[in-house]
Amino acid sequence: MRIADIQEEIDHELIPHERIMGRIQEVAAEVSRDYKERYPLLVGVLKGAVNVMVAFSQALSIPVEMDFMSLSSYGSGVRSQGEITVRQDLSTDVEGRDVLIVEDIIDSGLTLDWLKRELRRRGAASVEVFALLEKPERREVDVDVKYKGFEVPDVFVVGFGLDYAERFRNLDSIAVLKASVYEGEHA
Ligand code: 5GP
Repeated sequence: MRIADIQEEIDHELIPHERIMGRIQEVAAEVSRDYKERYPLLVGVLKGAVNVMVAFSQALSIPVEMDFMSLSSYGSGVRSQGEITVRQDLSTDVEGRDVLIVEDIIDSGLTLDWLKRELRRRGAASVEVFALLEKPERREVDVDVKYKGFEVPDVFVVGFGLDYAERFRNLDSIAVLKASVYEGEHA
């Protein structure tokens, strides 16, 4: 799905598809050099990271293994509260593995901070992160993200895996929705 297909719901496009793919190629080249002959395990956080995982893994020039995890953060609001539960776990034993977490967006950083600790606790040899997007203004914990796609301002974005109420994940670019889309929910 492209912006033109849902124009009436989009306020503006933030990052076009070609820029996303170009940046993913650059990061993939860097990761392919850094992880040569290490057969890393890519860990994607469901569901948002699926689109990034597909594009990124195909752009790598080295063999990798892939697995996914579904996490939920406790709390009533829309923000992570730092208390994380595993809804669906990995099927891979991470002990001794070089793990690269693939994320859609780092907001507060609480989810990622928890996941890095958890993978180290399980005995991973190394744990690094590739996040397509990050919102530096919203960061609450100082968590190291080695590979970064783009910085975005403190706005709610959708597309390329990111949803609003499970919609817009299949948009091929990153965009900001019109306020009327959210208001429609309460109508
Ligand atoms: P954190 O623990 O870093 O606060 O939470 C990160 C998660 O919050 C992301 O994986 C994503 O699911 C969600 N999130 C944060 N910002 C946005 C945003 O702008 N748009 C969407 N769709 N989800 C977001």
